[in-house]
Amino acid sequence: MSNAVTVERVYNFSAGPAVLPEPVLEQVRDEMLCLPGVGSSVLEISHRSPAFEEILDNTTQGIRNLFQVNDDYEILFLQGGSRLQFAMVPMNLIPAGESADYLVTGSWSQKAAQEAVGLTDSKIVWDGKPDRYRSVPQTGDYETNTAARYLYYCSNETIQGVQFQDHPEGKNLVCDASSDFLSRPMDISKHAVVYACAQKNAGPAGVNVVILRRDLLDAIPDGLPGYLDYRSHVDAGSRYNTPPTFAIYVTGLVLNWVEQQFGSLESIQKHNEQKCALLYDVIDRYSDFYIGHAVERDRSKMNVTFKFDNEKFDALFKTMAAERQLTNLGGHRSVGGIRASIYNAMPVAGVQTLADFMEEFAQQNG
Ligand SMILES: *Cc1c(COP(=O)(O)O)cnc(C)c1O
Repeated sequence: MSNAVTVERVYNFSAGPAVLPEPVLEQVRDEMLCLPGVGSSVLEISHRSPAFEEILDNTTQGIRNLFQVNDDYEILFLQGGSRLQFAMVPMNLIPAGESADYLVTGSWSQKAAQEAVGLTDSKIVWDGKPDRYRSVPQTGDYETNTAARYLYYCSNETIQGVQFQDHPEGKNLVCDASSDFLSRPMDISKHAVVYACAQKNAGPAGVNVVILRRDLLDAIPDGLPGYLDYRSHVDAGSRYNTPPTFAIYVTGLVLNWVEQQFGSLESIQKHNEQKCALLYDVIDRYSDFYIGHAVERDRSKMNVTFKFDNEKFDALFKTMAAERQLTNLGGHRSVGGIRASIYNAMPVAGVQTLADFMEEFAQQNG
């Protein structure tokens, strides 16, 4: 017997795990029982089989092509999420007694800095906390230490909704790009390490993409546990242990989708700029009612965050939005308010429906 369970797809504004492109989900469904030419599901084959080898190569190549990553860089697929990279980066890149510099622009870089400061002599050289993480620093707002091994930043703070519009100045940049990876071009050659967990914009939970400049491998301190040493993964071609094969497969399909649908990261960037403008436009036109969190210059194109003067509107907004199939709009539990995550796979129609609803809601309640 049928019941009242919703079976239609909604517009899902979840911050992560998040919306995936429908063509990708359809392909996953179609290939679930039998990967073409393989006779088994991708879930059932060895990570050393030729079929999986091809999937791994395709996924790696997809990243190389879209970001024009040159041969000075290794591309790894690791587990442990971005949280493990918070520790692996300092463990691998900072020899005993040395340090790195951290820009703290929100909850995620704060956690990363905390990990590095606990493990090494690293320094926070800019901290947005006094201003409640509403902005990111510009060149000249901070001073780096000459002996620092790298300068760390988070390109997009998923919780606060602030984003670097371009990478900061500094040598050996390390970037947590978890929530804007694949949303716009990025000059990898300016970086020592770029990493991103897939479950925001690039695929399902379970895999972390790490792009690592090869010369850094020479300076990794000896004595790290095997899994925590980047060299283990480089030497084994991301198969030091059994990698998250399914997550790598789906990420590969997402890369194919980006390539086919948009052709380039420049093109998807334009698309994302148009999408977020629909929401920021409503916020600006009803600025007495919607209080945007980020300063205009540093607004995130992926996570649009705002709140109301009166908190009583939070619940009403979410309830009424859900009636229009607009879901998961609650801000992170640590900050409250509203957050609309509009990653690559969120269609314009979804963002337009939300913008129309916001307009109506402001007229009714503002
Ligand atoms: C989600 C997120 C993380 C944490 O990722 P996990 O895969 O859960 O460890 C780190 N940094 C940013 C910017 C994120 O958005």
